[in-house]
This record gives sequence, structure tokens and C-alpha cells, in this order.
Amino acid sequence: MKINIAIDGPSGAGKSTISDILAERLGYVHLDTGAMYRAVAYTALGKGLKMDDEENVVKMIEEEMDLKMDPDGTIVCNGEDISEKIRTNEISMAASDVSKLGNVRKALVAMQQRIAADKGYILDGRDICEVVLPDAEVKIYLTASAEDRARRRLLQNQEKGIEGDYETILEDIKKRDYQDSHRENSPLHKAEDAVEVDSSDLTIEETADAIMKLVNEKIS
Ligand code: C5P
Repeated sequence: MKINIAIDGPSGAGKSTISDILAERLGYVHLDTGAMYRAVAYTALGKGLKMDDEENVVKMIEEEMDLKMDPDGTIVCNGEDISEKIRTNEISMAASDVSKLGNVRKALVAMQQRIAADKGYILDGRDICEVVLPDAEVKIYLTASAEDRARRRLLQNQEKGIEGDYETILEDIKKRDYQDSHRENSPLHKAEDAVEVDSSDLTIEETADAIMKLVNEKIS
């Protein structure tokens, strides 16, 4: 029996990495919903739209965005491979800005629900447990201290050759945490029925194992 797994949590908690590991172990598909908000922000910026121009951003999503998200992580929008281009600090903040808009959320949530309708999906984001997949069989709130998340992001950036210092990354993480958890539409918080997993003192494998245990209880 296939189930759906919902993973929410702040930026840099390891949601994407863990979701990829779970997808591999279970033969499921990981849908990175943050990448969808990033793709919207990237495309809107390219068109010169402001991140609070709700009407035109929604129109753009509905009429001009052909978004293809491959299970291997490749993201192609209107024929352009944007997989890496959407990972900059500028796009992170712009995605956080554009995701405040209620009608943008509505459009993306509808797409996410259509994709995950068949089960066998792992969705990670901010509103998955309560809004996108309220019926998900396993719900996780994956978190870690802001300092740990900043350290991990710094290492990831260094591996990719992206410049940046720890203090700036920590500041960006705190700013995005604040904005994501204080917005009016679907603010980030732990759903009542989600299990909190704090990965601060866990390795990636240990974190994945902790979640796999919960998944196995449901599917066995
Ligand atoms: O997860 P990631 O950091 O890639 O997400 C980028 C931004 O998109 C987040 O800061 C958040 O504001 C927004 N987001 C959201 N709802 C989701 C996923 C991401 O609001 N389900």
C-alpha cells in the first residue's frame, strides 16, 4: 500500500535531502514545493513583475508558466533549466515574498494536490500537513536550530563554490523564518498531528531512519 508523506519545516532543516533519501528507499516521488515558489519568483523577476503584484503573478502562473519538475531534481521552466538558478539568496527571499500572496498559494496548492492524488509522494514545504495534504498518512515537522541550519547551508554553498559568510547566512535564515512564520496565509508552524523531528544533533542518515520508522509503522 502506498501512502503520502508530508514534511514541513523551516528553511535549511534538511527537508529536501531527507525527502530524496526517503523517495529512494521507498520508490516514491519527492515533490519539492519550495522549488515551485522559487520558480514562480524567478519567472516573475525575469518579467520585471513586483513580488506583491498578485494579479499579474497569478496570471503568469496560469497562462505563461510551463513548469516541469523531474524526479531527479531537474527543474525546467519554459524550456530553461532553472534547477541551480533558483537557489540563490535573492530568489530565496523573493520566493518567500511571493508565497505570501493568497492566490499564488491557491494556484500552487491545486497543482500540488493534483500531482499527489495517486499516493506514493513525499511533499516538503511549509503548509503540506495542514493545507496541501491534510490526509497524508505520515506528517513530519522537521526542524533544527537556526545556527545548525546556517552551518549546513555554509558547507553546501562551499561545496558548490557559492560565496558567503556564516553571519550573513544566519541572518538570512532568521529573516526568512520570521517572514514565513508571521505571514497571514498559511504561516509556518507545526501541525497538531505532525511528529516533530529535530535534526540538530542527528546525521542525515539518522534523521531519515527516524522518519522511516514512522513510515514503516504505517505501511506494514
Ligand atoms: O523550501 P524552500 O526554502 O525552497 O522554499 C522557498 C520559500 O517558499 C520559503 O521561504 C517559503 O516562503 C515558500 N514556501 C511556502 N510554502 C511551501 C514551500 C515553500 O510558502 N509549501
